[in-house]
Amino acid sequence: MTQKTEFFIIDFDRTLADSDKLLEAFIEVTTEYIAIPREQIEAANRDVRQRGDSFDTAGYVRDHLNEMDRGEEWDTLEKEFIHRLRARLPELLLAGASELLEWLRARGSSYGILTYGNPLWQHMKLSATGFNHEQRIVMEHKHKGRLISSWQQSDGSFVLPQEFGGGVADAIVMLDDKAVSFEDFPAVPSRGYWICDPMHELPSQRGTVPANVQRCNTLSDALATLRH
Ligand SMILES: [Mg+2]
Repeated sequence: MTQKTEFFIIDFDRTLADSDKLLEAFIEVTTEYIAIPREQIEAANRDVRQRGDSFDTAGYVRDHLNEMDRGEEWDTLEKEFIHRLRARLPELLLAGASELLEWLRARGSSYGILTYGNPLWQHMKLSATGFNHEQRIVMEHKHKGRLISSWQQSDGSFVLPQEFGGGVADAIVMLDDKAVSFEDFPAVPSRGYWICDPMHELPSQRGTVPANVQRCNTLSDALATLRH
């Protein structure tokens, strides 16, 4: 009998990376480089967050520069953001993030990053954290489970998209902090880990997950379970 192959799908924001710190760093660079009040960015961010969406911070700032006829300054800002964050990288990742990827590589497991949000901002964050070298897909809607299920064939296997290497897997293992990501997620043998600490839960993370998805407080807890 051949071994069943699993493909691991890992979320980026609030699963691998500390998204609050990434946003804070971007606001820092932005307020330093261009005359846009911090309060203005924070207020816009808050409005969108309350609706449960990801705020397109980068797009907001880029539009602002364009409106002021200073669009050419965007490249400098983007480069400075990536440069500065790379210098302080370990603290921008959540506990267990590097260990998880090391564990996957060591056991020869295939994996990819599946992230939801505005492409401009997502790519900037992925570059700043060095994940632009990993297999990745940026989606503009939050229905990850539905997307993954669409790869499933009548024999139960999954034909992976080119961005994830284009191979075939028998099961998907997904780690994500948002319950909504697991809507329409495929059944066993696929499984998931919903990484969300009830003590610090955000409205956008809340919800119910299917029975083959286990709740873990932290990424380190999920990794401990995976290793078991
Ligand atoms: Mg997330």
